Amino acid sequence: MNLILLGPPGAGKGTQADRLREDFGLPLISTGDILRSQVAEGTELGNRAKRYMDAGELVPDEVIVGMITERLGHGDARDGFLLDGFPRNVEQADALGEALGGLDRRLTAALLIEAPDDELVRRLAGRRVCVKNPSHIYHVEFDPPKHEGVCDQDGARLIQRDDDREETIRRRLEVYHSQTEPLIDYYDRAGLLRRFDGRRNADEVHTHIRATVATLRLEEQL
Ligand SMILES: [Zn+2]
Repeated sequence: MNLILLGPPGAGKGTQADRLREDFGLPLISTGDILRSQVAEGTELGNRAKRYMDAGELVPDEVIVGMITERLGHGDARDGFLLDGFPRNVEQADALGEALGGLDRRLTAALLIEAPDDELVRRLAGRRVCVKNPSHIYHVEFDPPKHEGVCDQDGARLIQRDDDREETIRRRLEVYHSQTEPLIDYYDRAGLLRRFDGRRNADEVHTHIRATVATLRLEEQL
């Protein structure tokens, strides 16, 4: 059960990843977490990554691939994993395929949660966050506070984070489309792509993904 999760920001990948982890007991491996922990532990790869980050540069694929490969060798990932945030492009996908081959494993499926850009912008740009406590989150349309612009829990002001501004979101979506669409074709051609409708609510998407993954697991066991 070697799975990767693909989808644009706002499609609900994080929610589905958490649920899948619980359903199937798979470790969730996210590039961001690995990067942070390896830098914090001062591993060789972590130190290399840090030099790039300190210089304000992107960490090269080979360093990220090295970290992921190392992580896939840990005991908890022996029976499978759920990879989030990697691969982001075809080069990384090739590298992942090679790394898995080296471990005598292969990818089971690439799970893609899709939604139209306008829907994603509507979801993300409507978010408002409390200035006092960033865990107090609202949505102007789906989960509005009782009084506009004011946190229900502590009366503090609600703001829109820079990350949630429409221009920023549109830019992220452009990057996503240009980098990830070739990846979607790549996994589609390999017969590994499974598509899910991210316009549906989280429970429905979850039910659909869980059924698909359960079927994949049965097939693996045959
Ligand atoms: Zn608050």
